[in-house]
Amino acid sequence: MVLTAPYYKETHKEVDVFRQAFQNKLPLLLKGPTGTGKSRFVEYMAHELGKRIITISCHEETSSTDLIGRFIIKRSETVWLDGPLTRAVKEGALLYLDEVAEARPDIIVAIHSLTDHRRELFIDKLDETIKAHEDFMLVASFNPGYQRGFKELKPSTRQRFIALSFDYPDPKTEAEILVNETGIEAETAKKLVAIGQKIRNLTELGLAETVSTRLLVDAAKLIHSGLPKRLSINVAVVEPLTDDVQTTQALKDLVGLMI
Ligand code: ADP
Repeated sequence: MVLTAPYYKETHKEVDVFRQAFQNKLPLLLKGPTGTGKSRFVEYMAHELGKRIITISCHEETSSTDLIGRFIIKRSETVWLDGPLTRAVKEGALLYLDEVAEARPDIIVAIHSLTDHRRELFIDKLDETIKAHEDFMLVASFNPGYQRGFKELKPSTRQRFIALSFDYPDPKTEAEILVNETGIEAETAKKLVAIGQKIRNLTELGLAETVSTRLLVDAAKLIHSGLPKRLSINVAVVEPLTDDVQTTQALKDLVGLMI
């Protein structure tokens, strides 16, 4: 448990929604592009509620066995070892399934009974059903743009969650986040945000993902620690966005003009 609260700037009444979801034992889905503060928000809320947070980054290799638990051999004996999901359910932690749409179908099946009034987990290998602790809460994140239709969340799964949308903050708020996160000067923060906005509006570039607050924070960190501004933005913002030579050059030129 972190002692000092992680910095989080509220943008759309999400703190109240989270509190109410927790009190009403409702699972919560955070939708939005990468780098828009979803994970930071969960860390912040865990701190606010005094809860431990167990994060699972979902990917196609993660199976329900990894989450629920498995038998292991210990000094010639077979013993059962709870997985992170089972631990969270038993101890009443906040379980954060990051990028839930990446999870294999067996994981989605395993969490179904935790997302409705039953709030229970069936452990097939033990043939046992456990009731979730009073304080157990399930939070999942999902990036609708990134999946581009091939890894969607099924409506039957989505409708088990209440949902909050995350997006890039307005310029004033985003500049404030950069200053708070990195100690950069307000004027430089403003310029970084303007560059971010400009690139976000260049939809004709066809970037798979555009400039996130995370990338701007990274650029601000480099600038704050003494790297030249233009270089900082090129390595923290431009290069991670694209491998296309022409697009990279066009973005670098744009940065050169704006900084
Ligand atoms: P996501 O989980 O949506 O991919 P993160 O929570 O990891 O994004 O956010 C990336 C970074 O952006 C954070 O580490 C933080 O520096 C910054 N950030 C984005 N939004 C906020 C916010 N509202 N308050 C504070 N920091 C933020």
